Amino acid sequence: MISLGCSKNQVDAERMLAALAAEGFEISSDPTECDAVVVNTCGFIEDAKKESINAILECCEAKNGGRLRCVAVTGCLAERYREELVKEIPEADVVLGIGSNDQLAAAIRKALGGQKTAAFGEKEALSLEGERILANPPYYAYIKVAEGCDNRCSYCAIPMIRGSFRSRPMENILEEARTLASRGVTEINLVAQDTTRYGLDLYGEYKLPALIRAVAAIPQVHWVRVLYCYPDRVTDELIETIAEEPKAMHYFDIPVQHASGKVLHEMNRSGDLETIKALCEKIRARIPDVVLRTTLIAGFPTETEEDFEELCRMVEELKFDRLGCFAYSQEEDTPAGEMEQLPEEVRQRRAEIVMELQMSAAFEFADRCVGRTLEVLVEGAEEGRYYGRSYMDAPDIDTRVYFESDLAHEPGDYVDVLITDTYEYDLIGIAEQKEETKNESAE
Ligand code: SF4
Repeated sequence: MISLGCSKNQVDAERMLAALAAEGFEISSDPTECDAVVVNTCGFIEDAKKESINAILECCEAKNGGRLRCVAVTGCLAERYREELVKEIPEADVVLGIGSNDQLAAAIRKALGGQKTAAFGEKEALSLEGERILANPPYYAYIKVAEGCDNRCSYCAIPMIRGSFRSRPMENILEEARTLASRGVTEINLVAQDTTRYGLDLYGEYKLPALIRAVAAIPQVHWVRVLYCYPDRVTDELIETIAEEPKAMHYFDIPVQHASGKVLHEMNRSGDLETIKALCEKIRARIPDVVLRTTLIAGFPTETEEDFEELCRMVEELKFDRLGCFAYSQEEDTPAGEMEQLPEEVRQRRAEIVMELQMSAAFEFADRCVGRTLEVLVEGAEEGRYYGRSYMDAPDIDTRVYFESDLAHEPGDYVDVLITDTYEYDLIGIAEQKEETKNESAE
């Protein structure tokens, strides 16, 4: 299984892996010894689509002369481009939309018998429940709390690919969290396209705060983190819950996308620099050690020089602790895709400028951590040092803490680390000896 794109797509891949294993398939991470490969694609912006197509073509190439006899394509690219993909890449043996993931095992068997399959069931048929085989180290997991999105930002193809927003019943999520925790998962990352909307469709009210508290109540769970918060739905109750719940990470991932009220309006989003500023100040006032992460888009079709300057001003003023900025990608079948576009190089240049501006904020943030003691989730060791993540680092997208220790540590351990230095964005430290260890060594 090659799973591309976001953590939500990874969860789908993990469900497909468990279904394949239940159907008697052996799962291997070595493509050269496989009869079939599944490319779980991403399809929401140009770069991601290119990456997916390249991965499919590489696998199709590998069929010539190797053991590999079946290339199956699943995920967002298959869902979005359906028959077109089948026509464009006839070498692919199986092409399934997200509503047909449950047909994967049968389709692969047919393909190994020489028969191709293309199926595109209703998006809503995508199962959000069931067993998973984790595709990442066993001590953390993403839990997808809902599928789809109703925000319909004018530049975004995701609602078209994933359908309308639908929450999972809280009991199902908790059952999954308990199962994962019983297998050694201690860090739970709650994800969705818009995690803050969780529960509104099912319970008529926002249920994310209640969900965080319920997941945190699972004894084996140590850390609970929320990703993909929609600014308008970061409620006082959510801020209070993350402030109060000891296991909730003081980490807010809130993609604000832009600063200009005019551009946000044309993105079919609300707010402006003042509302974003007020939200950040409110969170920072209530949770002083909070980490604020955001995502921005530069080069939106109607973005003027003045709008772009306002975006840069926000980055310099608000000093987000973590920030990613993407150049706008023209997506067909989206309202913004119909607008007159800015030249590609202008979009790219503006995104680069924003990331250059962000560097100083990121370095300052790292410097401010020197002298603090942070609990670190150990992820590995290299060159005689351990490395891991603190509450400030989400998996796969943030930085690391490197530290020395007199004791031996395993991936999945939690260690208190005194931060003594920085190296670019990463933190450097030394493990703090627990009282009892200090006494033992004193004796
Ligand atoms: S919130 Fe907007 S950008 Fe995010 S998935 Fe939904 S429509 Fe797309």
